[in-house]
Amino acid sequence: MLTFAPRTSRFKPSPSSAASARARDLRAAGRDIISLTAGEPDFPTPDNVKQAAIRAMERNETKYTNTDGVPELKAAVQAKFKRENGLDYGLDQILIGNGAKQIIFDAIMATVASGDEVIVPAPYWVSYPDMVRLAGGAPVIVNGPQNNGFKVRAEDLDAAITPNTKWLVLNSPNNPTGAAYSRDELIELGEVVLEHSQICIMTDDIYEHLLFDGGPFSTPAQALPALYDRTLTINGVSKAYSMTGWRIGYAGGPKELIREMVKVQSQSTSSAGSISQAAAVEALNGPQDFLEERRESLRQRRNVMAAALNACDGLICDTPPGGMYVFCSCAGVIGKRTPDGKTIENDRDFTMYLLDSANVAVVQGEAYGMSPYFRASFPIATELLEEAGRRIQEACAALR
Ligand code: PLP
Repeated sequence: MLTFAPRTSRFKPSPSSAASARARDLRAAGRDIISLTAGEPDFPTPDNVKQAAIRAMERNETKYTNTDGVPELKAAVQAKFKRENGLDYGLDQILIGNGAKQIIFDAIMATVASGDEVIVPAPYWVSYPDMVRLAGGAPVIVNGPQNNGFKVRAEDLDAAITPNTKWLVLNSPNNPTGAAYSRDELIELGEVVLEHSQICIMTDDIYEHLLFDGGPFSTPAQALPALYDRTLTINGVSKAYSMTGWRIGYAGGPKELIREMVKVQSQSTSSAGSISQAAAVEALNGPQDFLEERRESLRQRRNVMAAALNACDGLICDTPPGGMYVFCSCAGVIGKRTPDGKTIENDRDFTMYLLDSANVAVVQGEAYGMSPYFRASFPIATELLEEAGRRIQEACAALR
């Protein structure tokens, strides 16, 4: 009988994927479920990007590539960092991976060992703490309170730092809250980091182009150039270009770190797919004007979602400045009873109640390290958002 390595019990499968899968299963069983669990925009991949992939296949670019990516894509990433972020990276400072997720995994595997600590602000994308645990390290969670826009304060960051701290993970705009750090806020946090020579910053900028208000977008190495040598700047084409299935992410950072990350990747997946890399070249080098149109469409849907949730008894949320999610407090329904007599004890009970009684799927805040909240994704049709809002409102009104 096969037994499993102890490391598999240190982390769990992604709760947001589990919630999406549950919604899909219930739908397949005939239930009229509205799923607010999506982690991707509903736009198609742009045609010019799809055509570039077809041309790559026709040129028989269907073989292994260098582990760190094809030169054309590395050059496109280099140009992107320069054009949009004012960051200069040499080609030996750039790595292409199978999504930003693999890039983060490479970085953690290459640097985090038993006893190392990684500061992860909460609410967080669920993969950061679990990847740190998988590597044998310890995530150190620092709360970004709602009254600070779900962002960590410099003094709280400072208090969490120990001689074992290896990384500060930043994600702005954030999943699940949409919180976005301004340049000044990044400088404030960066100055704390600069006081401790053992700490580097891993910044996950995957939602860069989904910033609706409060811009311009800023990233740590740009905000505070003294951080350049200690920052891994991670991004990808998944969210901005609606290319989640193509699996292309990338990073720029210190040469030695990138070299070790390439080593990790060379023993897992090797390179990202050759055809996807050709598509990503077109995404980064091709026309960018559609980004504004798509951002505006998401901004309108964000407004619909936030207004609908704020109209519900016991729910209250901020309008997020970026991202694809509203992170809504359900403190006002905790302790109430459902029509069939069950008490809502926590955000998990509430999300189950919404699923059972309103046929609406959301993800409990507990999964992202902060309760009692839930995450509602808004990149779905406006009519569905409005209908979900009506259903949630009715479900809340039925609580006693
Ligand atoms: N980082 C954050 C914060 C995310 O929310 C996600 C996906 O949901 C990713 C990274 C993964 O991106 P990719 O598709 O590039 O692996």
